[in-house]
Amino acid sequence: MNLVHHFWNQLSHDADRVLFEHLAPSGEIIWRQTRGALLTEASLWMAALRGAGIRSGDRVALSLGKATGLVTAHLAILGVGAGVVPLNPALSAVETEAVLKQAEVKLAITTASTVNRSPEIVTAVNGPWWVATQDDIPPHTVALASVLAGYQSGAEPHIGSDDAVALLLFTSGTTGQPKGVGLTHHNIGSNLQSLLVDTWHMSAEDRLLHALPPHHLHGLGLGLYGTLYVGNVAVLLDRFDPVGVLTALARQRISVFMGVPTMYHRMVERMAELAGDVSYASMRVFISGSAPLSPETFRRFEEQSGFRIVERYGLTETAINTSNPLDGERRPGTVGLALPGVEVGVFDPHAKQPLSPGETGEIWVRGPNVFSGYWNNPEATATAFCDDWFRTGDLGVLSADHYLSINGRMKELIIVGGTNVTPGEVEAVLETQAGVRECAVAGVPDADLGEKVAAFIVPQADQDATTLEDRLRKRAEQDLAPYKRPRLYRFLTEIPRNSMGKVERGKLKDMGNEAPEV
Ligand code: AMP
Repeated sequence: MNLVHHFWNQLSHDADRVLFEHLAPSGEIIWRQTRGALLTEASLWMAALRGAGIRSGDRVALSLGKATGLVTAHLAILGVGAGVVPLNPALSAVETEAVLKQAEVKLAITTASTVNRSPEIVTAVNGPWWVATQDDIPPHTVALASVLAGYQSGAEPHIGSDDAVALLLFTSGTTGQPKGVGLTHHNIGSNLQSLLVDTWHMSAEDRLLHALPPHHLHGLGLGLYGTLYVGNVAVLLDRFDPVGVLTALARQRISVFMGVPTMYHRMVERMAELAGDVSYASMRVFISGSAPLSPETFRRFEEQSGFRIVERYGLTETAINTSNPLDGERRPGTVGLALPGVEVGVFDPHAKQPLSPGETGEIWVRGPNVFSGYWNNPEATATAFCDDWFRTGDLGVLSADHYLSINGRMKELIIVGGTNVTPGEVEAVLETQAGVRECAVAGVPDADLGEKVAAFIVPQADQDATTLEDRLRKRAEQDLAPYKRPRLYRFLTEIPRNSMGKVERGKLKDMGNEAPEV
């Protein structure tokens, strides 16, 4: 399963058929790319990459706008047998430099804003830096357009080994240093087949609305590589906005939407007021992943739209492991069943023994989707695997009929006087209280108990914090064991999250430390 082989096979017929469309915030399609145009452009880029000395086994860093060469560049880099190192534009210059050096990048292709943050990062690349800009070229870089102008299309793709790294991604690093994760052609290709085709039944007839960031596995591996794999149409939005997405569904005849829970939460809040302008008639499936989707959002979304969101679970290291089924029961609060060919178990992390259904432990995964180890980091690799099982660091529980539920990260476990509390079980109770817009829970140090539970609440607009806190305390007394009840309540205007919607619990802990006890 080599992606180059598969992508070229998929795209080399129906040359006039549109593959990508760019949707402006105004709701107009402002650019279209056919399969034929994409392959011709990719072959021009491949000639330029080869001209720059990029060969099979090299790595190229990439950060471009979704509709301004990004997909062409991915295809071309893979097409010369190299691997792509997607750069997250939210990283600081220092973090970007660390990624470029760790990945030993031979060429970087980025927007001017990446370089302009700190011109010194240019020297972290052991080769040229091509910049997509119409303005002044930053020092020590070359304009992408002038490089491409020196070549012609016609270069043929190189079909390399299935075990070659296609994407070298760096983990989101909500805790600690980011680590490099090399996903091979086989890892990604087998996952796209079992998830998109076998489980979600995606086909060339689908129209995907793509509002996710394109540097993370979700928006990139599933959204963009998935489109190249399946041959569906992807309608690209530069940025998520709930109204833009909801109104685009019918206008752009969308059939598939992939989002993170924060997106669904924001959509749910606008659905009632937009009801007259929104139609779900063309929709086939709404998919959520990358962070826990609360059963409350699932319920409200279904109430408004009639659609039961399909939640799935994955990690950068493993791509996607489980999904709720399209044809069977979509069970809220669970991430569904193991994908075909993927094994998922819940283990006692100390005894290294599998646990029975209903028992909570660490989720371990093995299968063709799992990466083979951290980039140049044998120590981290050794602790991450037990034989051929990858230890996810997530806590979970399997039901008797094999549905997996996630209770949080092991590192996020709150240990109150020696007893474990998962943030998820406390959040599940607090978020159903009327007046709560969003909530997140974290452990903060406590002189007596070691740690105590702290609750961070975003109230609905019309709520008074003091009375809401009283009601939350009563609710916790009723529904939670004493050691699980929050000892601290802090009211915020927003829960801190990263670009994939993951709660940044480190920041919450800092806020909890500063908060006076109530
Ligand atoms: P990343 O490597 O950035 O994709 O982050 C992977 C982590 O995201 C997993 O280890 C989980 O903790 C979390 N995650 C992904 N999908 C889900 C989900 N559906 N429910 C709960 N957590 C999730």
